[in-house]
Amino acid sequence: METMIDLSEPYRNCVLCPRQCRVNRVADSADAHTGLCGETNQLRVAYLGPHFGEEPPISGKNGSGTIFFTGCSLRCSFCQNHQISHYGLGTGTSVEELGAKITYMIEHDHVHNINFVTPDHFFPHIFQLVSLLRRDGFYLPIVYNLSGYQSVEALKSARDYADIYLPDFKYSDASLAAAASKCSDYPQIALEAIAEMVSQKGFLDSSLTGAPLATRGVLVRHLILPGKVANSINALTTLFVEFGPDLPVSLMSQYHPVVHQEDDDLNRRVSEEEFDRVYLHAQELGFEHLFVQFPDKGPRQLRAVSPFLPDFERPEPFPPTPLRQRKGP
Ligand code: SF4
Repeated sequence: METMIDLSEPYRNCVLCPRQCRVNRVADSADAHTGLCGETNQLRVAYLGPHFGEEPPISGKNGSGTIFFTGCSLRCSFCQNHQISHYGLGTGTSVEELGAKITYMIEHDHVHNINFVTPDHFFPHIFQLVSLLRRDGFYLPIVYNLSGYQSVEALKSARDYADIYLPDFKYSDASLAAAASKCSDYPQIALEAIAEMVSQKGFLDSSLTGAPLATRGVLVRHLILPGKVANSINALTTLFVEFGPDLPVSLMSQYHPVVHQEDDDLNRRVSEEEFDRVYLHAQELGFEHLFVQFPDKGPRQLRAVSPFLPDFERPEPFPPTPLRQRKGP
């Protein structure tokens, strides 16, 4: 049964994320505003296509069917997708038009899932989109690729439209969260959000069963930041204490400085020594299902083309991507 969701009312006094801007995002209103996410209620998309840079049970052989939405409620100063989160790159579309493009991608590329990247500021549209896909008989796993900065209330509304959550847990350090993302409450909000996701879907099923592809559950990602090893170590410890050794965790080393940062630590890449300290800590804690993106061994130039650094002004934003290695305990 198709569920039609009002695509104006939830945006009139927007509290879709913990920023709680309470602005009227309805684009054709006299008092229309954008909040911190930078978007009205006009659905906008920067990229749609199969993506092979996710963890193996998400990308599989055929790729994950990603849809990158324009704007972001977190807008980290170092965002690796700056063009779409800060500069508003993207094209307006409708739920129906986007549904047709996704249907084409499913039928022609045989992607393993539908992967919404940073969709939370468009949740009402996303829920309607999932309803349309299901009405049309498409029941691929629905993946939410999230910053971790979501309210429990918003996640409860997503429960029936989600199968897999891929939240970040970026910060354990509130002052770093305040400096880089203007949200000192990130550690607490993200922990509550991840707990809600786990209560809804459990841990990523493929990690528990050994199946090649995931169909349900939660995998938490952590991007190691240069000069911020303590933040990473404490983030991993916190995750372990809160969720235990079975929580699937993905440790990422792909950080590239994209625009100049006031915090000079963030103007370089993560060193191998920094990565090794964080990786060793993850192993010592005893995580049973750890995905690891090892630093590349090539020259560590700031402007080197990274397989993980997209350029959304290209028709194909992602260079060929090596699959991440999966490590046991
Ligand atoms: S979705 Fe956007 S406008 Fe709404 S509360 Fe979050 S940042 Fe503010």
